[in-house]
Amino acid sequence: MSVNANEIRPIAANACCTPPSVFDIFTVGIGPSSSHTIGPMRAAKALVDEVAAAGRLSEVVAIRVELCGALGATGRGHGTDRAVLAGLNGAEPQCIAPTAISELAAQVADSEQLTLVSGNFTQRIDFPPTAISFQPAKQLPYHPNAMVCDVTYSDGTLTRRIYYSIGGGFIVMDDGTGPGVATVALQPTLPHPFCTGADLLSCCLSQDKSVWQVVLDNEVARGRDATQVYHKLDDLWEVMSESIRLGCDAKGDLPGGLRIPRRAHAMVSDLIARGSNADSLSGLDWVSLWAIAVGEQNASGGRIVTAPTNGAAGIVPAVLRYALTLEQSDETTVSRFLLTAGAIGAVFQTSASISGAEVGCQGEIGVASSMAAAGLCAAMDGTVQQVLNAAEIGLEHHLGLTCDPVGGLVQVPCIERNAMGAVTAITAARLALTRATQFVTLDQVIVTMMATGADMKRKYKETSQGGLALSLAAC
Ligand code: SF4
Repeated sequence: MSVNANEIRPIAANACCTPPSVFDIFTVGIGPSSSHTIGPMRAAKALVDEVAAAGRLSEVVAIRVELCGALGATGRGHGTDRAVLAGLNGAEPQCIAPTAISELAAQVADSEQLTLVSGNFTQRIDFPPTAISFQPAKQLPYHPNAMVCDVTYSDGTLTRRIYYSIGGGFIVMDDGTGPGVATVALQPTLPHPFCTGADLLSCCLSQDKSVWQVVLDNEVARGRDATQVYHKLDDLWEVMSESIRLGCDAKGDLPGGLRIPRRAHAMVSDLIARGSNADSLSGLDWVSLWAIAVGEQNASGGRIVTAPTNGAAGIVPAVLRYALTLEQSDETTVSRFLLTAGAIGAVFQTSASISGAEVGCQGEIGVASSMAAAGLCAAMDGTVQQVLNAAEIGLEHHLGLTCDPVGGLVQVPCIERNAMGAVTAITAARLALTRATQFVTLDQVIVTMMATGADMKRKYKETSQGGLALSLAAC
C-alpha cells in the first residue's frame, strides 16, 4: 500500500523555533527501540499520571491499549506491549532495570492483574492478555506509530487518549482536540531559537559563536550552569562507554528467535590479536566494533543512550570514541561533540522526522550519521559552515534508506547498519573539512529526506513487510 503525501506530517509541523534540549535528544533508556519501547513506556506512564492528577486513579477498573500501524506491525519484536505494561506500572525508561520488564511481564501474564502506579498512588486492576492488542492495519492520520488508550472507570465512564510515538522517545498526545506539540519537557524561552540548519547558521554567524556554544547558551537558559551541563554530558558519555564495554564483553545469541550470535566480543579478540600487524584500516574496524557493540546491547534490551533513536544508538558513541582515541582530543572534546551533534538532532526533531515508521531508516541511521559527522567535525575544529556541511553529507548518502527489520527485531540490518553509519560519518566530517563552501545545504537534504519518505511505500517503514524482512522470510 502506498502512502499518500498528505498522510505524512508536513515539514516543520512542530516548528516553534524552540529546539528540544540536547538532553531530550540524548536520553538514557533501554532497548530495543526509542519509538517502540521508550515512547510507548512514556505514553503509558503519562496516561496513568494524568488520571491520578485528576484524582480518579482509584476509580479505574480497566485499561485497553491498541497498538496501531507500525507499532502494531513490529511491536511484538520491539517489546512494545511489555514497555506499555512497565509505563502503566509507573516505570521510566531512564530508571528501570533492563531485567525488570521481563519480570513484570511474567507476573502480569501469570496473575492477569496489573498495578497502576503514579507516585504514591496505586490501583490494582484486572489485566487480561487482550488488554493490549496489536492492530497493524489500523492507520491513524497523524503518525504511523499510534497508541489508542481507553480508561474505564467504576461509574462506567471512559477516557480516551491517543498517543503518537514520533521517534527518539518523543510523544505527542491527542485528547480529542487534535495532536499536541511533540515534547518530553516544557520549553523555556531560549537566547538562540532555531529549528532549521539556516536558523542555526544564522545564530552562530550573527553571534560569532560555534554551534556547541550556541547550544550551551540554550542549555544554561534552561536552568543549569555550564559546569552542570558539562557534568551531565560526561554522564551521558559514561553510559555510552559502558554500553560499548558491556557489548564487547557479552557472548551468546541475541534474543528474539533469529538465533544471531553476538559478534562484538569476537571482533575485539581479533583486533587485539592482530595488534601491530593490523592493516591501515584497522582504525575503521575498531569504529565498526564500537558501533556493533552498542547495537547488540540495544537489541538485548540493555541500557543505552538514544542518539537520536535506539536503533541508531551505536553511531554517535562509536564516532565519539574515534574522536577521543584516534584523533587529537582534549578535555573539551566530549562536550563540543555532543552539544554539536545534539543541535543537529534538534533540527531534525523539530523540522523533520527521526522516525523509521515515518520516513524509513534514512530518518534513523541517516540522522545519527549526520549528527555524528557534525560532532566529529566540531571536535576537529571545523568552522560552523563545515559542521553543517558535515551534517549534510552524513545524511545525503543515506537518502532513500528503507526500514526493513527482519522478524520485527532491531537486529538485521540494524546492528551492522550502525557500523556503516559511523564510518560514513567519519568520511563526511573529513570531506567537509576539505572545503569552506557547500553545494547542497542541510535544509535542502532534510526536505529531500521528507519527500523521499513520503514517496516510500509503507512496507519499507518499520512494518517488516518488505525488503530484507520479506526476502529472509521467504528463504
Ligand atoms: S532498519 Fe533502521 S530504522 Fe528500521 S528498525 Fe533498524 S535501525 Fe531502526
